Amino acid sequence: MGAGPIGLFSANFAHLHGLKTIIFDSLKEVGGQPKLLYPFKKIFDIPVFNAITGKELIEHLAEETQEKATFMLNHRVSEIAKDDDYFIIDNEFAVKSIIIASGTGSFTPKKFPLKVDSESEKHIHYYIREPEKFADKVVGVFGGGDSALDWALELAQQPNTKVKLVHRRNEFRGLESSIQQLKSLKNVEILTPYLPKTSSLVDNQLTIGLKEMGQADIVEQTFDEIVVAYGFRANNNFVKQWGVATSGGQIKVSQEMKTNMPGIYAVGDAAAYDGRVPVIGLGFGEAQIAITSIMRSLFPEKTLTIHSTSI
Ligand SMILES: Cc1cc2nc3c(=O)[nH]c(=O)nc-3n(C[C@H](O)[C@H](O)[C@H](O)COP(=O)(O)OP(=O)(O)OC[C@H]3O[C@@H](n4cnc5c(N)ncnc54)[C@H](O)[C@@H]3O)c2cc1C
Repeated sequence: MGAGPIGLFSANFAHLHGLKTIIFDSLKEVGGQPKLLYPFKKIFDIPVFNAITGKELIEHLAEETQEKATFMLNHRVSEIAKDDDYFIIDNEFAVKSIIIASGTGSFTPKKFPLKVDSESEKHIHYYIREPEKFADKVVGVFGGGDSALDWALELAQQPNTKVKLVHRRNEFRGLESSIQQLKSLKNVEILTPYLPKTSSLVDNQLTIGLKEMGQADIVEQTFDEIVVAYGFRANNNFVKQWGVATSGGQIKVSQEMKTNMPGIYAVGDAAAYDGRVPVIGLGFGEAQIAITSIMRSLFPEKTLTIHSTSI
């Protein structure tokens, strides 16, 4: 459950051991956090690659996994029932084991705080898949964390794009080096401390009324498009309805990545144990532990081949 990097690798490793896998994701595309939250950022701690962007990493994983699993995208797993040796997922899929690789949970972006009509909504973005579509435009990026700074930097590289970064505080939460970089760019304007208060669409452009914090006046800014990077809400508490125990919004697991429910495992950012750090390399290892554990419990009579070189 979950087609982020760890879910994808789990399916891949399961296939290597001869298991059939169905991989679900509530979103209509695979990739989890690296694809959605930081596609253009370089990751430096994936073994083998010196540096690889989030998007490239997911492309590799997706390509490797494509033929090895059945993909059920746009499918949020919501129901799990037990029927003899099987779990029945959403009344439809009978499986012997479940690996929860739901990351921090199915995430929903925090919405732009103004009520806008459907035409205006078309100019408000929560993810950016094709930054080149923002070329020649005036783009407002709203937010003060790393995502907002990353999007502003990425969009500022598009030809003839003017970026206005709007944040409600003078201080940003993101990396100082990104802030300095943004400040050095001629096509980036930083507007702080402002809160969006009004919105109207005129001639296909959004005019947003910005209120300076602590002041009564509203200044108007016009944008072709705006990108909202206020963060995401997510948690894994939905697994509680299946009897799976959680701790602080994540799933408690044993050293074999087993949850308290026999046959249900958790890996990647969804899993919680003392000392865990939310990094991809570690999640890959957890996927290997979980699949090995599944093999041992499904085929106790078999001597398990551990190394892929021997499978
Ligand atoms: C800005 C940023 C930078 C980072 N940089 C690094 C880095 O440099 N190095 C590093 O190792 N890590 C980095 N990380 C962390 C890394 O991205 C995570 O550790 C990793 O994505 C966890 O992978 P995952 O597969 O467990 O979960 P996720 O990537 O969160 O994927 C989970 C997937 O499960 C799906 N899902 C959730 N609930 C359901 C459900 N009920 N049904 C179906 N599908 C569901 C979600 O839609 C999602 O696609 C970074 C994270 C961020 C936000």
